[in-house]
Amino acid sequence: MTWTNWAGSQRCAPLAVEHPDDEHSLSQVVKVAAVAGQTVKAVGTGHSFTDCACTDGRMVVLDRYARVIEVDEVNQRVTVQAGITIAELNAELARRGLAMANLGDIAYQTISGAIATATHGTGIELGGIATQVVGMTIVTGDGSVVRCSADEEPETFHAARVGVGAMGLVSTVTLQCVPAFNLHVVERGERLDSLLEHLDDDVRDNDHFEFFWVPHTGGALTKRNNRTDEPERPRGRAREFFDDYLSENIAFGALCRVGRRFPKAIPRLNHVTVGGSAGKDYIERSDKVFASPRLIHFHEMEYSIPRAAAPDALRELRAFINRSGLKISFPVEVRFTAADDIPLSTAYGEERCYIAVHVYRGMLWEQYFRGVEAIMKAVGGRPHWGKMHYRTAADLAPVYPEWDRFQAVRARLDPDGRFANQYTDRVLGPINVL
Ligand SMILES: Cc1cc2nc3c(=O)[nH]c(=O)nc-3n(C[C@H](O)[C@H](O)[C@H](O)COP(=O)(O)OP(=O)(O)OC[C@H]3O[C@@H](n4cnc5c(N)ncnc54)[C@H](O)[C@@H]3O)c2cc1C
Repeated sequence: MTWTNWAGSQRCAPLAVEHPDDEHSLSQVVKVAAVAGQTVKAVGTGHSFTDCACTDGRMVVLDRYARVIEVDEVNQRVTVQAGITIAELNAELARRGLAMANLGDIAYQTISGAIATATHGTGIELGGIATQVVGMTIVTGDGSVVRCSADEEPETFHAARVGVGAMGLVSTVTLQCVPAFNLHVVERGERLDSLLEHLDDDVRDNDHFEFFWVPHTGGALTKRNNRTDEPERPRGRAREFFDDYLSENIAFGALCRVGRRFPKAIPRLNHVTVGGSAGKDYIERSDKVFASPRLIHFHEMEYSIPRAAAPDALRELRAFINRSGLKISFPVEVRFTAADDIPLSTAYGEERCYIAVHVYRGMLWEQYFRGVEAIMKAVGGRPHWGKMHYRTAADLAPVYPEWDRFQAVRARLDPDGRFANQYTDRVLGPINVL
């Protein structure tokens, strides 16, 4: 069997593929592998662009381990099996009048895949999805099950929330939710230069602010999503279909295909993208606003940098694209999050800006991504664990102040490297058992 990720850029041939449906069978997979000296790797829905989920050992697919286990309505907490997708989770929460405080822009991923790579959305007062985790159970390298939270095994909990797949098999996750809420969406086109002038105000004044700069143009599409007590004022099915499928997927996909065939036309096509994006103003339930469908396949790199470095880094990125002669059809996505205290979170220690660059499937990405990486690395950038990058453990360790603390917990939970793969070998390095 050959496994392939969503982007089609990573492939592997696992020794065996397991579909456990309870914690006992999850633990048995690890125990059997331990006896045979094999490695084990859990995979979510393969939405990472890196080889983080690849394995030539036993692959654990969690599609039969994807239910809600418990809902604590008083404390607004929900405990789920690791394989539940964010879409399934959102639907369950909505039925109970609850929601996640913040989410990324798709809902296809599993909860365990999302937290393993520090998946995030946007909102300067809010952290990534892993910051919403208040408890976990983890199957460790010898197959035993560890329960952890701020009160129980706190050191394990502290480090394992963003585990990059190297801290064991996450079995269950307890999430702190919030009462369901609506978001007022305002989207419109603006000039990049004036946006960068008042960036701090936009980031501070909106619950969820992000924008997409369209390369080769001075234009950007801004999204300001703010909490509201007003009832839903949806776009209507026809408008939703036009925005989410026709405009953002079918029409944009057609422009990308033309650009792939005739790269010199990309700057002109990008002006069509900027000009064709209609403004939006509507109110909908938060989870429907956060995530939208993605039918176009692409490759992506995303860097987290200190928030204050964002305007200059974006100007430098624009200068690099102009200088390089590269023709880039995909908009550059810019988001913001609060600081957190999770050792391998890309937002550890300070408010961060996230800059994501994309290349349409079938086009070359290396020159672009290496150029962007150089700019972001120079300002203390940390790459998204699930998106393309060229960094290694040696140059990642200095940008994570609690790197050694993470490694100490990793060595305790997985002394024999049961959960290692080529990706963890490259980006986390060997396990140092003291
Ligand atoms: C179209 C698209 C849009 C995206 N949008 C965003 C976004 O808005 N924000 C953002 O931050 N990211 C985004 N991403 C990246 C994505 O959220 C992450 O790559 C995420 O990790 C994918 O989850 P998954 O379930 O597919 O996990 P996979 O990619 O299958 O696995 C990711 C990692 O998690 C590990 N893992 C999975 N389950 C377990 C488990 N039970 N125990 C231990 N380890 C486990 C895997 O071994 C692997 O190391 C996007 C990706 C795509 C393709």
